[in-house]
Order: sequence, then C-alpha cells, then structure tokens
Amino acid sequence: MPTGDGLFGWGAELEEVFTGLDRLLTRVGRDAGTRVLRFPPMISREVFEQSEFGQSFPQLFGTVHAFAGDDRDHVMLSRAMAERTAWPDVVRPTRYVLTPAACYPVYPQYAGRPDADAVVDTSSYCFRHEPSEEVGRLVAFRQREFVRIGTSRDVDAWFGSWRDRALTVIRSLGLVARCEPAADPFFGRGARLLASGQREQGLKYEIITEIDGHPVAVASCNNHRDHFGRTFGIEASGGEVAATSCIGFGQERIAFALASAFGPDLTGWPSETRDALWG
Ligand code: ZN
Repeated sequence: MPTGDGLFGWGAELEEVFTGLDRLLTRVGRDAGTRVLRFPPMISREVFEQSEFGQSFPQLFGTVHAFAGDDRDHVMLSRAMAERTAWPDVVRPTRYVLTPAACYPVYPQYAGRPDADAVVDTSSYCFRHEPSEEVGRLVAFRQREFVRIGTSRDVDAWFGSWRDRALTVIRSLGLVARCEPAADPFFGRGARLLASGQREQGLKYEIITEIDGHPVAVASCNNHRDHFGRTFGIEASGGEVAATSCIGFGQERIAFALASAFGPDLTGWPSETRDALWG
C-alpha cells in the first residue's frame, strides 16, 4: 500500500515474512557473546556529526524539524498548511537526525572505553532521502545489522567471513544470489575517486538478487577500517584505534525479492524457503 513517494504500508502476510527473516538472521548472526542493542530511528545531531555521514552523503540524510515560533508565526504556518503553499521559515532543525544506517548509534557506546572487542546485533528503521520509483528503493526501511568492533586483524577476518555466510543465508531462502564488490554513493566532485578507492581496497561487498528481473542489493558488508574508531574515539586492545565493520540486511528488499520469485501466496512458497523463515 503506497502512502507516499518511497513509503508504503503492509498487512499480516508481509509482517510474517519480516518476523521469519528476523529469526533467521538471529540464528545466523548471533552467538552467546553477541551484545544485542536496539535504538529508536533517530540519533542526536552530535552523533550524526561525529559519524561524518553528512560529509560523504549529504544527498541522503534527513533531519527532524519542529515548529519554533510565536503566535504570529503559528498563524502564518496554519495558513500555509491550509493553502498547501510553502511553509514560512518557522519550522527549524531540531537536535535530532533520522538514523541513516542501523549501526550508527552503536559506535558511541564504545567511545572512551579501553579494549573494545565486540559483536553487536542491532536493528533500526533507517531513512535515506532518495524518493524513487525503483522497486525496493524506499526512503524508510528496516535494516538488521551485525557490527564488529575490535583490532584491525579481528575485524578484517570477520568482514571476510561474512562473504560466504551472507550468500548462504540469502540462498537458503531459495533466491538466486551472488556476491559482488561494491562502493558507496559518495556525493560531489571526489565521488568517483572515493568509490574506486573503496572498490580497489575491497572494503565493501553486496549480496545481489533480483526483484522483478532487476538486480538489487539485499545485504551489504562494509569494512570501515579505523574511520569510526577515530571519529568516535574507540580504542581496541593494545591501545590501537579500533577498526569496525558491519553487515546490514535490507528486510523489505529480501521480502520483495521473495514475493517476486514465489508470488504473493506464502503457502505456495517452496518448502526450503518456508523452512528457512518459519521452520
Ligand atoms: Zn552499518
């Protein structure tokens, strides 16, 4: 049910798929030592600034605005809303930014603590301001992530280990999938250089499947090296700046890929798919 550009609602059947996916990803990504952290879909402006997301992807982030005016401003705003005209300048940015990636609230939890060495299971609604007709490109979507924080050696090994694991989990749903090197959609003049550097250094890969015949990334694994360790002040064992890596699964995209492959009737889905989700 579309509710706006890049926004939609859904009913019980799709919710059942989301629940099954969540359980599947818990089985695959969580073990006894994993720390589970959940956050609302907003971060403080301070955390957002520390992440440097706005420097790399200004075209994608969104902030929360709120009314900041007096009686006169309220009258002007009410009139503009009734007439569907541009709002006067009485709605201003607050201290809140919409979470652009589920892992962002995790890093500050490890700031200023020695010997960071963790695997975190997190999940959030995320916002990316890219309204589009493209199937699977939503402005608000659920992302389930696993995050590794530690020494660069441990983090590199973890990043590499997800290549097979992520491909296996998507294939276990009966989807045709492949793993490909990838780059982020950097903004502006340096974009091409940054993207090719990321590819050459093998810092990102995606699991690609199809929705209605179009290739779509349903999972993305990123090796941030010491970026977040540096910007959030996280220290790994031995005092080195911590490295971090995360893998994110786009739950709507996986659900859409399943519906596109097997149709809208869940009872008719292949038994391997049903077992993976609800077995
Ligand atoms: Zn992440």
